[in-house]
Amino acid sequence: MQTQDAFDKRFPDENACREYLKKMRWPDGVKCPRCGHDKVYELKARPFNWVCKSGKESVNKSTGEVLTCNKKNGYRFSVITHTVFENTKRPLVSWFKIGYLMLVSKKGISALQLHRMMFGSKHLDNYHTTWCQCMRLRGAMRDSEWEQLMGEVEIDEVYLGGKEKNKHKGKRVGNWASQGKTEVIGAIARKGNIVCQMVEEADFSTYDNFVRKTVSGRVNLIATDETFRYRHLRSLGFPHEIVTHKREEYVRGKVHTQNIESFWSLLRRGVMGTYHKMSRDYLPLYLSEFTFRHNRRHDDDPFAELISNA
Ligand SMILES: [Zn+2]
Repeated sequence: MQTQDAFDKRFPDENACREYLKKMRWPDGVKCPRCGHDKVYELKARPFNWVCKSGKESVNKSTGEVLTCNKKNGYRFSVITHTVFENTKRPLVSWFKIGYLMLVSKKGISALQLHRMMFGSKHLDNYHTTWCQCMRLRGAMRDSEWEQLMGEVEIDEVYLGGKEKNKHKGKRVGNWASQGKTEVIGAIARKGNIVCQMVEEADFSTYDNFVRKTVSGRVNLIATDETFRYRHLRSLGFPHEIVTHKREEYVRGKVHTQNIESFWSLLRRGVMGTYHKMSRDYLPLYLSEFTFRHNRRHDDDPFAELISNA
C-alpha cells in the first residue's frame, strides 16, 4: 500500500523514529523533562538516554512529590520519558505508524483495521494493545488552544451511541439519556476550523456558553436548524439564521448546516466502526482525533505536530 511505503521510507527503523522524536521534542537541544535544565549528558552506552545532574528540585504536579535531579547520581531519562510512548512494550516505530495512518486516512481508520495492516488478520490476540495505542495518540491530538470561529459558521448537535433500534430516528426531543445516547455540540467555520464538545448537561447555559466561547462576535453568519437552543442569539447581536428542517427546508442560500452534517457523518462512522463498544469516557478522544484531522486538512505535515504534542 502506497501510504505504508511512504511511511517505511520516512521511518525505516527504530533509530529513525527516535531521532525524529528528539528533534520534534527538543528543537533547541535536549532538556531535562523533570527540571528543564539544558546541560544534560548523553549516556554513551545507551543512545537516546541522558542524565541530568542539575541539583534542581521540582514538584510533580499531579502527586505533589518533590523530585530532585541529584548532583551525584543524577536523573536518567530517555527520548520517550513523559510522552505518550512511555511504559510500552511496542517499539516507537509502531506508534509512529499508527499515528501516521490515522492522520493520512481522511475518514479515519479503526484500531482493528490498523491492527490488521500491521500484524495481519490472524493475530488478533494483541489487538487490545493496538487499541490502547490509538487511544493514547488521540489524547495527543487534543487542541490546547484555538481561535474563535469567524466568517460563516454552522452550529449543530449530534447524538452518538445508544441502542441500535434508535440510531436512525434522527433528531427529536426526547429522553436521550435513557437511550444511552451522548450529545455532542459543534460549530464549524466554512473553509475553516471545527470545535466540538460533549454535552454534559443539556440546558440553556451549556449551548449559550458554547456559542460565546467558540464563535467570534464579528462573525458574518450563524446558521442552525430551528432548534430552540439558539433562539436567543439574535437578541445577543449575532447574525443568526435558521433553516426549518421540520418543514423540509435544508438550504436557503447561504443558510444551511451541510458542512457540519458531513463532519457528523464521518464522526458517527468512526465511532460506530470501533470494535470496542463506544463509551462516554472515550468519546472526547474521538472528538479530538476527528477535530485534529479536520483542522489540519490543508497542512503539509500534521504528523509532525502530533509527534511534538505527544
Ligand atoms: Zn533535571
